[in-house]
Amino acid sequence: MDFKQNKENINKEIKRAYDAKRYAIRKSLRPPKTWKSKYRFINDGNGSGKLVHQAIVEKVLGRSLPFGVEIHHVDGDGHNNANSNLVVCPDHAYHALLHLRTRALEACGNPNWLRCIRCKKWDDPKNMSSYIPKDQTTPRAEHRECNNEYRRNRNRMGGNELRG
Ligand SMILES: [Zn+2]
Ligand SMILES: [Zn+2]
Repeated sequence: MDFKQNKENINKEIKRAYDAKRYAIRKSLRPPKTWKSKYRFINDGNGSGKLVHQAIVEKVLGRSLPFGVEIHHVDGDGHNNANSNLVVCPDHAYHALLHLRTRALEACGNPNWLRCIRCKKWDDPKNMSSYIPKDQTTPRAEHRECNNEYRRNRNRMGGNELRG
C-alpha cells in the first residue's frame, strides 16, 4: 500500500466533506428572494450573491460572520451600508427585537411599549398581558379588557351562528 497515495486520498475526502458542508451553510445563509430589492447584493459572477452589508461587516471585523448572525440597518434603509448604519445582531431574535423597539419608538415614543393585537394601540406592557409564542421571537401583547371584549364578541357570534 502506498502510504503517500493513501494520505492524499484522505485529504481529498476531507476537503470534499468540508466543501459540501460549506456549500450547505452558504446555501442556508442565502436570503429569500424577497430580500433582493431590500438589500444590495454583490455580483460575484457565480450567483452566490453575498449581501453587501455582510461583506462590509466581515471586512471591518476581519473575519467571516458566525452562522445565524444578522445585520440590522439602523435607519431602516437596506441600501444605506454606511458603517454607522449597521448593527451586528447575534441572532434573529435580537434582530427582531430591535425592529420591534424601533417600531415602538416611532409609533409612541417609547421603545419598551408593546402593541395590543386587539385594539392595535401601543401601551405600557404593565397594562397588558404578553407572552412570546412558540416559534416566534417577539412578544404578543393584549390588554386584558380587549381580550375580554374579544371573547364576548366571539361568544355572541358563536351564539348567532347556533341560532341561525
Ligand atoms: Zn434590521
Ligand atoms: Zn387593546
